[in-house]
Amino acid sequence: MLEKRKIEKRRKDEDLFKVVDSTLDPKTYVNLENIASRLDIETYLGSISSGKEAKIYPARTYDGKYYAVKIYYVSTASHKRAVERYTLGDQRFEKIKISNTRQLIYTWARKEFKNLKRMHEAGVRVPEPIYVYENILVMQFIGENGVRAPLLKELPDEEIDNNLYSDIISQLQLMVNKAKLVHGDLSEYNIMVYDGVYIIDVSQSVPIDHENAMDFLIRDINNVNRFFESKGLSIIDTEEILKTLEIP
Ligand code: ATP
Ligand code: MN
Repeated sequence: MLEKRKIEKRRKDEDLFKVVDSTLDPKTYVNLENIASRLDIETYLGSISSGKEAKIYPARTYDGKYYAVKIYYVSTASHKRAVERYTLGDQRFEKIKISNTRQLIYTWARKEFKNLKRMHEAGVRVPEPIYVYENILVMQFIGENGVRAPLLKELPDEEIDNNLYSDIISQLQLMVNKAKLVHGDLSEYNIMVYDGVYIIDVSQSVPIDHENAMDFLIRDINNVNRFFESKGLSIIDTEEILKTLEIP
């Protein structure tokens, strides 16, 4: 029986977590156990990143596949401010009654899942979203054998070229013109490079009719341009790029 095989393979429950993480609350642990049985996960490995709003863990399945599991911290003050700032004025989320911080974080995780889904369906290179539950988001792992791919920021200079730049501009065009979303935090820190580029961290992304969409878009383009310019590469003026993007 499959269940029996799983139980034998993972004799002790604590084997589910390779590293015990004191920053996770008990509810999150229970949810992770449920997600493990749903997605056939054998082990959660140690976190590969702790950012301002979340931690990312690789999870290995019984068949040796990997997922990236993003776990949002259930409460930080800056998080609360950011959620308010980005979900207000976004018609899809305005109606959601935000009763407490936990609910706020769940909304945030769901928003990232939906944004990933919409981008993925539009053909943008983002990690494929797999599952979301409360403050936990499971997505395609970008990298090999649980080792994540480098961020654009981490790439050696000799690998930063015009092809990479046009790849990013194409992703931007797909995002705006097909998915109808503006990233809102695009920079060398939220682009991974793995046989082309992957755009990540889309929790704050907003529809192109959002009141701040144009400001966010200009900032996104400027960030990308600034990075490539600093590497001595020729770039396309922000104004020129904007002409190829359909913002209402
Ligand atoms: P930060 O505050 O540092 O921006 P964050 O909390 O906003 O972090 P992300 O940017 O989504 O979270 O992810 C943090 C890091 O985890 C990324 O910089 C990247 O190194 C890694 N990462 C994110 N998504 C994936 C993925 N799908 N596969 C592999 N690694 C990932
Ligand atoms: Mn990030």
